[in-house]
Amino acid sequence: MTFDFSKYKDELLFVPLGGSNEIGMNLNLYTIGGKWLMVDCGIGFANEHLPGVDIIVPDITFIAERKKDLLGLVLTHAHEDHLGAVPWLWRELGCPIYATPFTATFLHHKLSEMGPGTQPKVIEMKCGSSVQIGPFGVDMIELTHSIPEMQAVAITTECGVVMHTGDWKFDSNPLIGPVSNYAQLTKYGDGNVLAMVCDSTNVFVEGESGSEGEVRKHLSKVIADCKQRTVVTTFASNLARVATIIQAAHDAGKIVALAGRSLHRVVEAAKESGYLAKDIELVSDKDVMSLSRKDVLIMCTGCQGEPRAALSRIARGDHPNIKLQAGDTVIFSSRKIPGNESRINRMHNQLVEKKVEVITDKNDMIHVSGHPARDELKRMYEMVRPHIAVPTHGEPRHLQEHAKLAKSLGVKETVLAHNGAIVWLAKGEASVIGKVQSGYVAIDGSSMIPTDGDIIRTRRKLRDDGAVFVSVVLGKNSDLMAPVQMVAPGLLDIKEDDELIAECVDEITRVLGSSKAKSGDAQIAEQVRLCVRKLLKKELDKKPVIEVHVARV
Ligand SMILES: [Zn+2]
Ligand SMILES: [Zn+2]
Repeated sequence: MTFDFSKYKDELLFVPLGGSNEIGMNLNLYTIGGKWLMVDCGIGFANEHLPGVDIIVPDITFIAERKKDLLGLVLTHAHEDHLGAVPWLWRELGCPIYATPFTATFLHHKLSEMGPGTQPKVIEMKCGSSVQIGPFGVDMIELTHSIPEMQAVAITTECGVVMHTGDWKFDSNPLIGPVSNYAQLTKYGDGNVLAMVCDSTNVFVEGESGSEGEVRKHLSKVIADCKQRTVVTTFASNLARVATIIQAAHDAGKIVALAGRSLHRVVEAAKESGYLAKDIELVSDKDVMSLSRKDVLIMCTGCQGEPRAALSRIARGDHPNIKLQAGDTVIFSSRKIPGNESRINRMHNQLVEKKVEVITDKNDMIHVSGHPARDELKRMYEMVRPHIAVPTHGEPRHLQEHAKLAKSLGVKETVLAHNGAIVWLAKGEASVIGKVQSGYVAIDGSSMIPTDGDIIRTRRKLRDDGAVFVSVVLGKNSDLMAPVQMVAPGLLDIKEDDELIAECVDEITRVLGSSKAKSGDAQIAEQVRLCVRKLLKKELDKKPVIEVHVARV
């Protein structure tokens, strides 16, 4: 039964369409008085159930149907899991986008890569500024994270204030940008915050996340100790880290080359926004091999083992410009994101086989997370003191642990939401009261396709069981006019399996010869398909995709 929003018209509701079943793909909606506000619109990464697909975006059917009442999209920061879906989805939303200058610059770069076309209306807001969007009073509050200009969004409504934290940590020395605005957080806490919707990523991590300033000390020393060619990989969006690597290279007398499109994009956006000096000296990765090995540092993408990224190609030895040799060093200033372990380990092994030294965050303090560990979460709850806690930015296990932690800190009500949940934010009533359509849409090359449709189902079958193509030529009375042709790519080897192929062809010929088979092309094709399916199931225990083509002469 569809949920009747009109019954709750004067109430404040929260509806996440992404980020409450997973870490990534954040999309959050708030509604009051029949109007809607969106916070963030990000991508997620596809898993092995979606062959050929790298990224996914939220199913936004629900809000697209209400686009006339969607008043705005507020972006908390420039990470892909918070704004990466905008180029794919904004046409269906059509609302203005509110973002700080760095986030807006980053978004414009992304949009321009999608080619020409109408651009969304982007309203630039100063960090820490305010705007009234219909019934939503929006205050940006500066927090530290692993990218500049991360803004928590305090939303003031007739029903109360929601603190939507976005991604954050408390870093006492973030290197780029100010420390978190503790005074503003405390001021809100003093004024009675109805609900806090908060980052759960590191809720299982004890203590504190650590500071970029500390990383700079350690990473600089590690880089200074590298005697030969040095490669450093990190998350491209972590501008403080990028700046640290450039600074450390400079201090060690090494010149920097960038390898990987996202690093170039981030460095350009950072120069435009004034976070990096416009005149930093960089060489092209094409010139790297002509420089003395000890004089060069290559900063590259691919710390998660992405197969097409620079580091994977360097490790495999098929990067067009960069080759490594014994004695060179690769530094991972990153961590392994769960799910990527095996491909990162494969890359690590390829490097070790080349006698390249590999240094990771297990060897030295050369990476810190951008998300709050438990002690930081405790401090945040002590400052903001919300009546209701709605954990987000996590898998169900993270959300549950976060809710437990919030309860232990004296929060009166906690709500475990999932994508599509309708959460009523009211004292004494905080709970999930219904659900709306939600899900995932796959980005397949340059188009969007459903994740549960025929294309993906067939692709999975092709991947797991291969395919069979049968071609039959029939005359007027459906007599066979030429030998049956059959190939089975990804299933049978044309030479090795010639006996089984011949057996299939004989069986098809027999079926076509029987009087029962004489009918329309579609029925004939179906009979052939069924007979091949039965035979291959019996002989190989496989169920390939089978396509039968009937031609008439
Ligand atoms: Zn995030
Ligand atoms: Zn983030």
